Amino acid sequence: MNILLTGGAGYIGSHVALSLLDSGNDITIIDNLITGNKEILPKNINFYNCNINNKKKIKEIIQSSQFDILMHFAGYIKVEESVYQPEKYFENNTKNAISLFETCLENNLNNIIFSSTAAIYGNPKNNNPITENVILEPLNPYGESKMRTEKYLLANNDKFNSIILRYFNVAGADSQLRTGLISDEATHLIKIISEVAVGKRSKILIYGNDYQTLDGTALRDYIHVSDLADIHVEAAKYLLKNKQTNVFNCGYGKGYSVLEVINEANNITGNKIKFEFSKRRRGDAEKLVADVNKINKYIKWQPRYNNLKKIIESSINWEKKINEKNL
Ligand code: UDP
Repeated sequence: MNILLTGGAGYIGSHVALSLLDSGNDITIIDNLITGNKEILPKNINFYNCNINNKKKIKEIIQSSQFDILMHFAGYIKVEESVYQPEKYFENNTKNAISLFETCLENNLNNIIFSSTAAIYGNPKNNNPITENVILEPLNPYGESKMRTEKYLLANNDKFNSIILRYFNVAGADSQLRTGLISDEATHLIKIISEVAVGKRSKILIYGNDYQTLDGTALRDYIHVSDLADIHVEAAKYLLKNKQTNVFNCGYGKGYSVLEVINEANNITGNKIKFEFSKRRRGDAEKLVADVNKINKYIKWQPRYNNLKKIIESSINWEKKINEKNL
């Protein structure tokens, strides 16, 4: 396959780029390097430093090759920031994404894989794992911005064949440490735990211990980023074969509480992860666990890292590496 990938210098995009290359595909990456980092771009690939709303340049790029699929990762992803700067999220994650899709369509590229998020579900009322067809009620502008883009693709399914992947909590790093999460202001749980593990921070705050869960801390479905990357490769094959729009949850279907994750990290590090309880964070849901029946039915996918210990270990190993390299 020949894939055009936006956001390939970002966390998930760079892992997907590696999975595609490792399985013998061709890729071209577009990234404006605002939140992305050149250090984690795969070597010897076509790379363009370009905004996704630069219609002229994107047109030239699309016309330079016969792409099978656009995979669109470029986007802002910080929930709390989106609460304070909603316009930034609607501008980039919705308006610019739609402009990119239109440019693709104008140049006969109509197969799209879109990075969406479990944040579009909000706080589902019932306690079961979340299926793709529940009502979407995002709690924050980040989720809202992704939901609007999904709606555009779904409303235009006569023009586009698209696969919308709703990521649950993505964590961990490439087993060979070729890439991982680089963030100047980390917000994600396992990233922050890793920073504590390598001594970059003294402790972690647990946001809320008064949720209706077994230990009072919030539940999430953590998926290893390399498994998520493999899903994209298989979803791409599925899309080219079936040429149909579809929506899939991406997770393992099992929830861990914040305390359970910290306890596992403490087993790994010999109790290096000091923590304190703090108040709830704005925009956070109580429980987000995927119902994965649909993806398991349609996409040929075998998880390789469905193990919390492996996820945390790979994240800490990556943190050690970037700490030494000052990234
Ligand atoms: N969390 C926490 N302390 C932190 C970072 C995160 O207690 O320093 C909690 C957060 O409130 C949520 C869970 O960990 O319940 C996962 O948060 P993360 O930011 O990793 O992902 P999100 O689910 O918000 O996308």
